[in-house]
Amino acid sequence: MSLGAPFCHRMGRGGGQTRARGHGPCDGAPVGAAVVKALYSTASKLPSVQIRPSSKVTQLIEKDGKVVGVKVEGKDKKEYTIDAKAVVLATGGFGANAKLISSLRPEYKGFATTNQPGALGEGLELAKGVGSTFVDLREIQAHPTVIPVKGILISESMRARGGYLINQEGKRFVNELLPRDVVAAAVLAQPTGKAWLLIDDKLVKSNKLAAGYVAQKLAVSGNNVSELAKAMGVPEANLKAAMAQYDEAYKTKKDTAFDRPEMIAANNVWPMYAFQITPAIHHTMGGVRINKNAEVIGVTAKPIPGLFAAGEVTGGVHGGNRVGGNAVADIVTFGRIAGANAAKAAN
Ligand SMILES: Cc1cc2nc3c(=O)[nH]c(=O)nc-3n(C[C@H](O)[C@H](O)[C@H](O)COP(=O)(O)OP(=O)(O)OC[C@H]3O[C@@H](n4cnc5c(N)ncnc54)[C@H](O)[C@@H]3O)c2cc1C
Repeated sequence: MSLGAPFCHRMGRGGGQTRARGHGPCDGAPVGAAVVKALYSTASKLPSVQIRPSSKVTQLIEKDGKVVGVKVEGKDKKEYTIDAKAVVLATGGFGANAKLISSLRPEYKGFATTNQPGALGEGLELAKGVGSTFVDLREIQAHPTVIPVKGILISESMRARGGYLINQEGKRFVNELLPRDVVAAAVLAQPTGKAWLLIDDKLVKSNKLAAGYVAQKLAVSGNNVSELAKAMGVPEANLKAAMAQYDEAYKTKKDTAFDRPEMIAANNVWPMYAFQITPAIHHTMGGVRINKNAEVIGVTAKPIPGLFAAGEVTGGVHGGNRVGGNAVADIVTFGRIAGANAAKAAN
């Protein structure tokens, strides 16, 4: 925020949260782009910082047990070396590496991913080359609300702000604010393996993210229960009853059907929008083992001198189930620690 990211405290708790802890752009826009914009505009003004896009690190260089630089394949495909007194590995997770994911968790074979195509986990190979150890590699998260095949994530903040889930029978089937793995399992347990996420026009009019989803034509909609039920292909009477039940839960602040702990919006302003969703690979909690100083731990159980790591390339920070918002907390916190300690090591 001190670098200009326009963040506010986010209303409504996400899956598995006991309090509303999230922060993000005040207009509801996606968080990641705002973080990158703030960091990029600051870093690109520093004369000592060079940003080299379309350049790929192919190897960490080791000398006498210490990491002393990297080999890079440049834009022109030519390889060159950068000598360094310390290296911070921040290459992200492997959520788009379908082969690696299905080898670790065969049940995820064929799942779509919300990740960009470069999230292949190259950092794991780089770290392996200098004797890194790894932790929790099988802890792979499927996010419950993703547009089938397209892999477009419908953010958890839609549920936090009042959205709820409906199955093909037109009924609610789960407390929507349970952790991601539980909600994903509940969706997959439906005969179709899919469900519908319902949001209303009030949210669409007030939230940039929701408006963006609708503008991308990812939802069906209706001006009344009959139209909406038809668009979703669900029994109208069941949908009407489910909506009335949620309305009642919102008013009484008690969800007798599923014990959802929080309903911060009535979610009943027409037109209503329904997104057909299914779980897809979203986050890889496992990776390079680090300590609290963001030093990478080697096979001798001691830090590998000169090598630090932060973010989704690391493992062990989130346990088996990364909670919404905590990836940004992870990269900002451990990124800062890694940077400060790498600078200290370099001096
Ligand atoms: C759709 C979506 C929405 C999300 N929303 C949220 C949210 O609201 N809140 C939250 O907390 N988390 C969210 N996350 C998770 C969060 O975005 C990621 O965990 C986070 O971006 C990881 O940051 P990182 O810096 O570790 O890696 P990344 O952001 O993945 O960056 C790694 C970079 O390293 C580059 N790289 C990889 N290999 C090499 C190589 N060999 N040489 C050179 N460069 C390389 C990659 O190209 C990439 O640019 C979301 C994730 C997705 C996919």
